[in-house]
Amino acid sequence: MEQNQDRLKDIISHAKEYGFVFPSSEIYDGLAATYDYGQLGAELKNNIKTYWWKAMVQLHENIVGIDAAIFMHPTTWKASGHVDAFNDPLIDNKDSKKRYRADVLLEEHIEKIRIKIDKEVEKARTRFGEEFSEDQFIATNPNVLRNQEKIDSIEARMKYALEANDLEGVRQLILDLDIACPISGSKNWTEVRQFNLMFSTELGSVAGDASTIYLRPETAQGIFVNFLNVQKSGRMKIPFGIAQIGKAFRNEIVARQFIFRMREFEQMEMQFFVRPGQEMEWYGYWKELRTKWHKNLGLGDSNYRFHDHLKLAHYANAACDIEFNFPMGFKELEGIHSRTDFDLKQHEKYSGKKLQYFDPELNESYIPYVIETSVGLDRLFLAVMSAALKNEILEDGSERTVLQIPPVLAPYKAAVLPLVKKDGLPEKAREIQKALQREFNVQYDEKDAIGRRYRRQDSIGTPFSITIDHQTLENNTVTIRNRDTMQQERVAVSQISTIIAREASWKSILEKL
Ligand code: ATP
Repeated sequence: MEQNQDRLKDIISHAKEYGFVFPSSEIYDGLAATYDYGQLGAELKNNIKTYWWKAMVQLHENIVGIDAAIFMHPTTWKASGHVDAFNDPLIDNKDSKKRYRADVLLEEHIEKIRIKIDKEVEKARTRFGEEFSEDQFIATNPNVLRNQEKIDSIEARMKYALEANDLEGVRQLILDLDIACPISGSKNWTEVRQFNLMFSTELGSVAGDASTIYLRPETAQGIFVNFLNVQKSGRMKIPFGIAQIGKAFRNEIVARQFIFRMREFEQMEMQFFVRPGQEMEWYGYWKELRTKWHKNLGLGDSNYRFHDHLKLAHYANAACDIEFNFPMGFKELEGIHSRTDFDLKQHEKYSGKKLQYFDPELNESYIPYVIETSVGLDRLFLAVMSAALKNEILEDGSERTVLQIPPVLAPYKAAVLPLVKKDGLPEKAREIQKALQREFNVQYDEKDAIGRRYRRQDSIGTPFSITIDHQTLENNTVTIRNRDTMQQERVAVSQISTIIAREASWKSILEKL
């Protein structure tokens, strides 16, 4: 745990030092759970968006993207259920005065038991070697079985209490499990209360309830209210999807852990409209495709796992998370939800407008069912940073910090570095930079010794460093250094762009999907 906290701290300080992420309004000591993306962070974020948009929208004939307003008619949030039910159960520790989400305290307790099982399995794997069968071990080992039973029983009680909105039951479960406050270590808990997560504000100058509007807590509703606009104007046929990237706002109770949980964040969501009855098939389809999309980034397959939801949101008939192994442990990165026809039906009811699709094949009209894929852009940013930041000890005993960001996402694809600041090398380097920058984001740097410049590029994740030396002037060749292997190769200037494109072009990653 201690080690993980240190790891997160390393990431936070590296992100700040190199211009990826700053605390918001830092000169005023910052604002809780709000962050600004710096010059390199903005590039990385844009690249993540592009990877998503290209894969989801441009590679799917039947998916289109929109950009809806953050403000929406207030009735939207009545219809969607957010005014009445977008709550988190919160609990305070009376000694530390710290506030927690009751469901998160329980989930963390379950996770601790799960880690015990994992350790038991790993121990047995080492003991039995090649003959080890994990499935058999899990099904028969008494310690594993006992711990699994514990998990099942806690999950069952938690699901029951949360679904019945039995807040006393949730509190009792926390007491029965002897869960202590991580700060004070005490079990002196308050009641559990519900807390609405939406930020509200006033529209125009008229005060009162009628003019209260909300900052959207999810981008999804902007898609639902535009369902017919898009379907008609785009002549879309079911099944089809509408995608959107945009800001969302939640007054989170426990907003810690850097950009993992913010009060203002960005979502990349896609709502896929299908025939009623076919939603489970499509749910499975999107679960698989989204996992593939994540793994295609090369952050390590073992860093992902699924978590099926116990307590389904008011709109869902199936839901799971794709979790990522963050420095704080496995946590939700993306949610995949089968939202039924709940949202469109509600908007029909509240708006009095028909939101149906005429299916020419069935010759009938219906309200489509919806599968949603929703990934947090900031969480994905943190996932990339956590997997990428490495401290390496080199063969000569020296150390280097390297950010092994997937090349397509790297802020700069290449650095153009004249070996010395004279003899016409800067001029030649500028020429190469100019030619490359039409295709890739590249950086020019002539300051400091070449070794230090390489280290700096390693620290910001630039996959290639191109060095222009005296030989370049003679035969038009340069050295190209690979960030990960640190190998250098002498190549013709005309080849540089092909070498970069092989690893860092959109084509190079999209063709693997
Ligand atoms: P959590 O259980 O962690 O609060 P959630 O289940 O409420 O998340 P969803 O409503 O499914 O989240 O939102 C979809 C995605 O939006 C999440 O998978 C996550 O990546 C992102 N997200 C949600 N809340 C935040 C937040 N406060 N800060 C950053 N990203 C968030």
